[in-house]
Amino acid sequence: MKINSKGNLIVGTTAILIIALLFICIFVVTSINYIQNKNIGIESNDNFKYIIDDYTQNLELNCRDAIDEATQKVFNGLPVTNSENQIKKNLNKILDKKNKEYEEKYDVKINSETLSVENTKSPWKILFKIKLNIKKGDEKYSKIVEKNASVEGLRDPLPIAKLTIMSGILTYDNQIHYKTALSTYMLLHHLDSPESYIEATAPLYIKKCPYDPYIHHGDPGVIEDCLKHGYFHESADGSCYLCRLEGKGKCPHYGLEVFIQTHTPLKNESLSCPDHVVFADHYNGEKINPDDWNSLILDSSHRKKYGLINDG
Ligand SMILES: [Zn+2]
Ligand SMILES: [Zn+2]
Repeated sequence: MKINSKGNLIVGTTAILIIALLFICIFVVTSINYIQNKNIGIESNDNFKYIIDDYTQNLELNCRDAIDEATQKVFNGLPVTNSENQIKKNLNKILDKKNKEYEEKYDVKINSETLSVENTKSPWKILFKIKLNIKKGDEKYSKIVEKNASVEGLRDPLPIAKLTIMSGILTYDNQIHYKTALSTYMLLHHLDSPESYIEATAPLYIKKCPYDPYIHHGDPGVIEDCLKHGYFHESADGSCYLCRLEGKGKCPHYGLEVFIQTHTPLKNESLSCPDHVVFADHYNGEKINPDDWNSLILDSSHRKKYGLINDG
């Protein structure tokens, strides 16, 4: 009897232990499964978020490419009559291609539409508004995304858009070489001393002048350095990048101006050299240093703006 009851006790305890162990096992397995499932959930969310981030981060570059394609059209000798529409069209085409790539790569459906391309307070930036609809399985993302694309580093389309490629303008060594294009233009418009602008040059790429405030151009060596690097300047009178594409020498928007540099021994009064004056406003200036072949021809209000006082 005693042995028997002891045996029962052992069997009972063992059974309880086994049951407890089973419960523990079930609990552990369930927990592991639960944790794993949870991770999968997070991963798929992360994946969708990653796709959106990746897509939108690259939009700025796509916007810039869309502007550059419009610039290329001008350099190919074709007119851009509505730069906003042209850039919209270019961007939609770029994004259509990108959307197809994303669909193949990530199995997402992306619908994108460029709503607007517009000027900002800064003439160095263009604002894009793009409507995005992204769908992957049950997950959806819908938003109007705004991106600022910089025009710095792009080519200045104004000279060719204004004078046409037939005028004989050439571009090399990061410069626009006007050859006889400007003097011919001046002759046609009955402007003074067109021969002064034979072989004039200007920078090809949009670069923001670091000498700000501009009055510092009067400090020793600054104007020389500004011309050497071919910097552009902000100007209420100069035309914005979007209007430059359309060949407009001036526009109502806050824009840019650049010096057109003459290389001539002539000392006659001639057009003042900021590009909006040469292409639209048509008023005269004089050489800052009459004995310097490369001296800028500048009027008094621009001399004030840049702190350049007449040496001669
Ligand atoms: Zn400058
Ligand atoms: Zn404009």
